[in-house]
Order: sequence, then structure tokens, then C-alpha cells
Amino acid sequence: MTDPTPAPDLLARLLLDTSPYLSCDDCFDRLDEYVERCLAEPHHQDPAMTTHLAGCGACAEEAAALRDLLE
Ligand SMILES: [Zn+2]
Repeated sequence: MTDPTPAPDLLARLLLDTSPYLSCDDCFDRLDEYVERCLAEPHHQDPAMTTHLAGCGACAEEAAALRDLLE
């Protein structure tokens, strides 16, 4: 009999892929710091923010406005 349960590491990776999701409130709380860090460190990575901004037009617009302001 084969066990249909995915391997634990596969499951962990699947969970990891969706876990960086933030609410808009969380995103706004971190937006200043995120944009500042992105400008200071071009290779700065924040998967949670990147994921949210990629899927949320309102926050992406806010981030772009903030970036214009800080640049
Ligand atoms: Zn948002």
C-alpha cells in the first residue's frame, strides 16, 4: 500500500510558499521600513512584502509613491 501523504519536506515547501502572505495592515506597518531598506540595499529580499505587493495593487501603489518620495 502506498501512502498518499506528500513527503514532509514537500509539504513544508508548499506551506512556505504561501506563508509570506501579509494583510494590508501588516504590509502598511512594514512599508516604510521595506522601501527604505530596498533603496539602501538593492538586493534586499523580503518575500512576505514582495508577495503582498505583487498581489495587492493598493499597497504596490503606496510603495511606489513612498519610493518616489524617498529617492
Ligand atoms: Zn495590500
